[in-house]
Amino acid sequence: MPPEVLKGLVISLEKTKPVELDCNEIFARLDEYVDAVLRGDDLDRLMPDMKHHLEMCKDCFQEYEILVSAIEAAG
Ligand SMILES: [Zn+2]
Repeated sequence: MPPEVLKGLVISLEKTKPVELDCNEIFARLDEYVDAVLRGDDLDRLMPDMKHHLEMCKDCFQEYEILVSAIEAAG
């Protein structure tokens, strides 16, 4: 594959990538998110991107559940 084709491919991939947070950013802010959940904050207003990601991404949702149950277990 000629390099210019490859480059075009990468660019088109970047363009079609949804404007969303990636998993690393979610992990980095998961504490904050769980705190907000437990406070009963309005996540649709405060962290709609994170909420959306957790609804779409099984891996991050699993992390989220682990964190929530750890906090609940700690009382
Ligand atoms: Zn994720």
